[in-house]
Amino acid sequence: MANVKLTNVKKVYSNNVEVMRDINLDIKQGEFIVFVGPSGCGKSTLLRMISGLEDISSGTLEIDNQDVTQVPPSLRGVAMVFQSYALYPHMTVYDNMAFSLQIAKIDKKEVDAQVRRAAEMLQLTPYLDRLPKALSGGQRQRVAIGRAIVRRPKVFLFDEPLSNLDAALRVATRMEIANLKESMPDSTMIYVTHDQVEAMTLADRIVLLSAGNIEQVGSPLDLYANP
Ligand code: ADP
Ligand code: ADP
Repeated sequence: MANVKLTNVKKVYSNNVEVMRDINLDIKQGEFIVFVGPSGCGKSTLLRMISGLEDISSGTLEIDNQDVTQVPPSLRGVAMVFQSYALYPHMTVYDNMAFSLQIAKIDKKEVDAQVRRAAEMLQLTPYLDRLPKALSGGQRQRVAIGRAIVRRPKVFLFDEPLSNLDAALRVATRMEIANLKESMPDSTMIYVTHDQVEAMTLADRIVLLSAGNIEQVGSPLDLYANP
C-alpha cells in the first residue's frame, strides 16, 4: 500500500545506450498502472528499476514517500510477477507459495494463513498439494501471483505475466488479475505489457512509452477512445 514516485529518472546501460531519458511519474496508492509500448521501448527496464533489480543512473525513486533509490530489492516492499513463472519444480503449490515466508522465518501459522488466503483468492485451494508439472500454464501463473501475494507487498509489479499463455488462458488469467485488483483495492499495481487489450481492461491509468520517453499518460478512454 504505497505511492510510487519517479523524479527525473534516467537509465544508461553499460554500453552507453540511454534507454530512459527523463521519466517523471506519480503513481497513487491503490492505482493500477499499465506501461504499454512496443518491444524495446524500455517497459521492462522501468519496472526493473522500480523493483531494484536494475540501478537507476540518475534521478530518484520514492515508494511510500521514502527515497528507495539506494535500497536493495528485498527491502523495498515490492513483489514481482515475471513472464515465465519460475516455479520450483520439486515443490508443491503450497510450498512454492510458502517458501519466501519460510526462509524469512515467519511463524508457521502465519505462513499457513497467508498461503490459504492467497490460494482462495486465486482459486488454487484444490491444487495446493500438486506439483507445478501437474498444473496448466494459467494455474502455474496464478501460483506465481500467489507467491507475490503472500509477501503482502506494498506494490505489485507484473512483467508481461500473460504473454507465455495461449489465448484462452490469457483471457482467464487476465480476469483473475482483474479480480485481484478488486480484492486488494489498496495495493498499488504496476503492470507491463505490449498488449492494448490488457492495458484497456486492467488499467486505471495507462502510461504509453516510446523509445525511453513517456508519450502519453491517461485513462483507457483518454488514450484509445478519443484518438
Ligand atoms: P521493453 O521491455 O519495452 O521491450 P527493455 O526495457 O527490455 O524494453 O529494453 C529497452 C532498451 O534497452 C532496448 O533497446 C534494449 O535492447 C536495451 N537493453 C535492455 N537491457 C539491456 C542491458 N542489460 N544492457 C544493454 N541494453 C539493454
Ligand atoms: P535450472 O535453472 O538449471 O533448471 P535451478 O536450480 O536454477 O536449475 O532452478 C531450478 C528450478 O527452480 C527452475 O525451474 C527455476 O525456474 C526455479 N528457480 C530458480 N531460482 C528461483 C527463484 N529465485 N525463484 C523461483 N524459482 C526459481
